[in-house]
Amino acid sequence: MSLPGDPGFEAASRPWSNAVTQQVRAAVELADADDAAALVRYARRAGASLSVQPNGHGASDDLEGIILVRTSKLDTIQVDPAARTARVGAGVAWGRVLAEAGPHGLTGLAGSSAAVNVTGFCLGGGLSWFGRKHGWAADSVTAFDIVDADGHPGRITATSDPDLFWALRGGGGDFALVTAIELDLHPAPAVFGGQMVWPGTTAPAVMTAFRDVTAHAPDELTVWFQQFQPPGSTTTLTSVLVAYLGDETTGRALLSGFDSIPGRLQDTRRMMAIADLGEIASEPTDPSPERFASELLTDIDDHTADALLQPITPLLAMEIRHLGGAFAQPSDSAAGPLTAPYCLIEIGMVTTPESKTAIEARRQQYRDALRPVLADRAPFTFLTPGDTAARAFTPAALTRLRTIKHSRDPYAIIRSNYPVLA
Ligand SMILES: Cc1cc2nc3c(=O)[nH]c(=O)nc-3n(C[C@H](O)[C@H](O)[C@H](O)COP(=O)(O)OP(=O)(O)OC[C@H]3O[C@@H](n4cnc5c(N)ncnc54)[C@H](O)[C@@H]3O)c2cc1C
Repeated sequence: MSLPGDPGFEAASRPWSNAVTQQVRAAVELADADDAAALVRYARRAGASLSVQPNGHGASDDLEGIILVRTSKLDTIQVDPAARTARVGAGVAWGRVLAEAGPHGLTGLAGSSAAVNVTGFCLGGGLSWFGRKHGWAADSVTAFDIVDADGHPGRITATSDPDLFWALRGGGGDFALVTAIELDLHPAPAVFGGQMVWPGTTAPAVMTAFRDVTAHAPDELTVWFQQFQPPGSTTTLTSVLVAYLGDETTGRALLSGFDSIPGRLQDTRRMMAIADLGEIASEPTDPSPERFASELLTDIDDHTADALLQPITPLLAMEIRHLGGAFAQPSDSAAGPLTAPYCLIEIGMVTTPESKTAIEARRQQYRDALRPVLADRAPFTFLTPGDTAARAFTPAALTRLRTIKHSRDPYAIIRSNYPVLA
């Protein structure tokens, strides 16, 4: 345990998202699951709360006085290719699952960054490259090893404790300290993926093709539209990021709507190893002052497309992820069915108080311009400081989550980055 004033405390308590300041009471690196149980019992006796934060990609700025819990030593991973399952400790990042599953023609439902923690990702629902085919990452979790708020270890499955299992699948980190999870892997014998980049002036043509391609895409194909400013540049570029669960010829044919757009600067599309999935977006792995926020969109009509094509300044990037497919199917998870077909993600760099204000103002401009197509939810996994968990759930799901929280953790020992009672 490291306390304020100890050497290394500052580094130990800093999140990946270093735009966020955490005034925590202590930082603890768990040794193993027994250590986790002892810590919860200690917190209970001391009247303290704790929050697990493997990395802090999703850090909110609300952890004052909390015991911060790190999980990097819970790093075991077992892949069973025959059963198509993986068991991972709470410290394991997606990159390791992909590297172990890929050679067996299998994948887990990872998102754009291989550095993100599997457990944190799944607890928040998890929007994967392959979610259109297989749904939320949380839908593929079959068991959670936990320590409950009384400090008792347990193994939670759909039959052992349906309420808690449901809440852990997408309801966030409010319900238990999770020490390991078991998840189903999915066949991925071939993946065609990469990124195409054009000058920003082509954005209207790229947007038109994006709307057309996504209107007809099979569930195996996921396409994201992006406008971004490379670091140190004031030039905006337009790009399309893709992942297709299939062969190159079919993948290229499905994406042929982008072929006639002139001036392509880069095209990294190729048949790729599952272990290289993180290279499609090549997001930063080192700590960053990046702050993201998101909106779910019910449609991209002409008016919406115009609004989305306005200059992104002062943002670093804006991204539109195509959802639909299995995301919209029934899901026995707190994340629930996600019927909005698109997700807008706004990414800015908070380097000064002024930059934070400017980023928030740009976000408000998007919200005003997009009002007719804004869904009344946002994915939990992309909540941003200032949001509450209520934004992520249907009213019925939020009520059920709050009931479960009251019954399992009445003294609020375990705290999510976005608590359901806030
Ligand atoms: C560059 C980047 C790319 C991203 N891409 C995607 C994407 O493609 N799809 C997507 O869905 N999200 C994405 N995200 C969001 C990110 O996956 C979520 O915020 C995720 O929860 C954070 O991962 P993390 O490993 O840093 O977890 P942290 O931010 O450290 O933790 C997130 C929360 O999960 C809970 N938690 C984590 N571990 C435990 C545990 N063992 N027990 C109990 N609670 C726990 C806690 O409440 C914690 O606050 C991205 C974020 C960034 C910065």
